[in-house]
Amino acid sequence: MADRDGLIWYDGELVPWRDATTHVLTHTLHYGMGVFEGVRAYETPRGTAIFRLQEHTKRLFNSARILNMTIPFSVEEINQAQIAAVRENKLASAYMRPMVFYGSEGMGLRADNLKTHVIVAAWTWGAYLGADNMERGIRIRTSSYTRHHVNVTMCRAKANGNYINSMLALQEAVRDGYDEALLLDTEGYVAEGSGENIFAVFDGELHTPTLLSALDGITRKTIFTLADELGIKVVERRMTRDELYVADEAFFTGTAAEVTPIRELDGRTIGCGSRGPLTEKLQSLYFDHVSGKRDDHPEWLTYVD
Ligand code: PMP
Repeated sequence: MADRDGLIWYDGELVPWRDATTHVLTHTLHYGMGVFEGVRAYETPRGTAIFRLQEHTKRLFNSARILNMTIPFSVEEINQAQIAAVRENKLASAYMRPMVFYGSEGMGLRADNLKTHVIVAAWTWGAYLGADNMERGIRIRTSSYTRHHVNVTMCRAKANGNYINSMLALQEAVRDGYDEALLLDTEGYVAEGSGENIFAVFDGELHTPTLLSALDGITRKTIFTLADELGIKVVERRMTRDELYVADEAFFTGTAAEVTPIRELDGRTIGCGSRGPLTEKLQSLYFDHVSGKRDDHPEWLTYVD
């Protein structure tokens, strides 16, 4: 990943990819206190466009606020940094990674002289959970790891350290032959995937867990809007895993995962055992929107040129 051509936006300047380095005593590397985003840009008929840039940047600033980190750039500068990272690398479509982290000015939990740095990298990244799985659906298992409790580490923040829990769950699932993990909250209710929100379909309605132990996903919000426009009711509530076993359909949402159908949970086939009809409809609408094939939400697309 580090050894390639291209440019990375680093503290206000575009630097050669291989030079975008930091010291081994970087504070965030030791304690995990940092925040980041995952953003995608898609090829559209009018050129490359970033999907819901403003919402991602807002969540980045909110995450920083939750961790009490001050981003030394304005919202507009961070928006422009993401546009520049896509444009200057001449990417037709891209995954972008803005990250805010503490420098190496001090060590120890009490360090109080730390500089806050910001990078934005951008590269080409295809379907996160596999192109075939966008139709076939994925197999997932309930994790033996519990999702964060709001007083342990806060899910409203997309914080670097939160992803230890995600990685443990994902590694366990992959080791056991599954595509992804489903994490439950501390009380045993369904929370989310290692990097995705989850939806289930019951009798034509969409149900999804509340946000107490799940990230406030931007794809999740997009699905709310698309469902609303189709006249489909969306219910946010506590869900149990046995409810998911008997759901008509289920799918994950995320910037990386987009809309990925789930065909099996814990060895139980969900619905028809592949992508369900409502999942297919929402997935195809989602792709139409991100790729600029529809113009009813122009506010969702920021063109890079
Ligand atoms: N939950 C977690 C833990 C995630 O990492 C992500 C990906 N950012 C999501 C949910 C989905 O969020 P979004 O749709 O904003 O990408």
